Amino acid sequence: MAHGLHVDGVTRPGSGEAALLVDPATGDIVDTVSQASAAEVTAAVDAAAAAFPGWAARTPGERARVLLRLADLLEDDAEALTDLEVAETGKPVAVFRDGELPFAADNLRFFAGSARSLEGTGAGSFSAGYTSMLVRRPLGVVAGIAPWNFPLVMAVWKIGPALAAGNTIVLKPAPSTPRSAIRLAELAARAGLPAGVLNVVTGGADVGQALVHDRRVAMVSVTGSPGAGRAVMESAATSTKRVHLELGGKAPALVFGDADLQAAATALTMAATYNSGQDCTAATRAYVHTSVADRLTGLLAEQMGRVRVGHPREEATDIGPLVSTGHRDRVHGFVTRAVAAGATLRAGGVLPEGPGAYYPPTLLTGAAQDAEIVQDEVFGPVLVLGTFETEDEAVALANDSAYGLASSIWTTDVATALRVAPRIQAGVTWVNDHLPIASEAPHGGVKGSGFGKDMSHEAVLEYTVTQHVMIKHALRQAHDSFRPA
Ligand code: NAD
Repeated sequence: MAHGLHVDGVTRPGSGEAALLVDPATGDIVDTVSQASAAEVTAAVDAAAAAFPGWAARTPGERARVLLRLADLLEDDAEALTDLEVAETGKPVAVFRDGELPFAADNLRFFAGSARSLEGTGAGSFSAGYTSMLVRRPLGVVAGIAPWNFPLVMAVWKIGPALAAGNTIVLKPAPSTPRSAIRLAELAARAGLPAGVLNVVTGGADVGQALVHDRRVAMVSVTGSPGAGRAVMESAATSTKRVHLELGGKAPALVFGDADLQAAATALTMAATYNSGQDCTAATRAYVHTSVADRLTGLLAEQMGRVRVGHPREEATDIGPLVSTGHRDRVHGFVTRAVAAGATLRAGGVLPEGPGAYYPPTLLTGAAQDAEIVQDEVFGPVLVLGTFETEDEAVALANDSAYGLASSIWTTDVATALRVAPRIQAGVTWVNDHLPIASEAPHGGVKGSGFGKDMSHEAVLEYTVTQHVMIKHALRQAHDSFRPA
């Protein structure tokens, strides 16, 4: 049985309910994990609170050294981490080993650098006889709550900026994908992270809520569904906590008449199907100018047919199964209802026989703009293609969504890209691509996709608070605090 706790530097079994971990490629049980009880969540916060003064007092350079060592250890541990992650998520070996894992290491190296450039905005004399210093301070104990779609990367996005800024953290991975987070904590201990600075508690919403309700937790950062985000925000209000919410998406792609259609079809197929579409920035709604709609439909259907759906441990596999058969059935339900409501299937959409939570890349046209397949997050390899006549219509369709995380524009006219990008309500707008991210660039949404940035120096700032230290020059000087300068 896998141990479900890493508290105060020690990995041990939790005394909460045990959870079965299922391989989505086969349906076999790969492990069980002993999850945290409420008392163990409290113990994890105890450890994080006790470790906070010491970690906050470390110099930025010392904190950076630990994060750099952890990045190296992640790479050294690639084989074991890949094994855990592939067994729990069904993502292809090559995708994780050659993509997500090196990216997680790069994130940590970025945050190590960022720790060393964390500075307040200098000193100034804003009132006669005083000098003010604006200093960035860590918040204290933070809680990170992560989803199952990118377990290791999401764990790194939670711990990297929090630790770089001098906070201590209690991390809660998703209940179906907990083992890489425990291993990450063990590697962090080997990298020299003091006991108690990074703690992991496994479990579901009840364990998440126990963290949110602990008054000593200063901030909760959650990546998950809008429902989870709202529940966390509501509970956080009872103890006035800061929240940081990364909540899903329904990314539009606007393909203009002058776009390179072959390039768009290839990249959008990848963007709709990468990680079997279980990606909050996935291309889910493409809108194409009517003049090229038929051509793009044909090219997309052809590209989708070429995606190699297969066992995650085969090197040639592009996409593996979805995370569970329950989730796969939910995705197929969306597709079935869309077709019943009048949409046309252009590729995929047929439930495969045999074991495993597989689902084919699926292309639909002719869905109504207010249909659930266009408005709700499906979280599977499903792309819905609609059309537009004018630029204004394209922008209106893109923005007609409760979400606002990612988007893309496809055109060979730079003026079109520059005109349209600022009109789209989204945290990221790609031009002639869809999906790439960089450690230096902030990731986060607007509207129902939440608020707060992951990655980049902005993420590190979100885990800090500015303290104003105001120093009086002469002890007996009369103060003029309310007089404008
Ligand atoms: P989920 O909302 O079911 O769970 C996410 C995490 O929140 C899990 O750890 C879960 O245990 C916890 N949780 C759920 N309800 C909670 C509650 N009431 N209180 C406290 N914690 C709670 O989401 P999921 O199914 O694991 O992940 C898929 C979702 O995550 C999708 O909506 C996806 O778009 C979103 N996501 C967003 C981003 C982003 O950066 N915006 C990235 C990845 C995934």
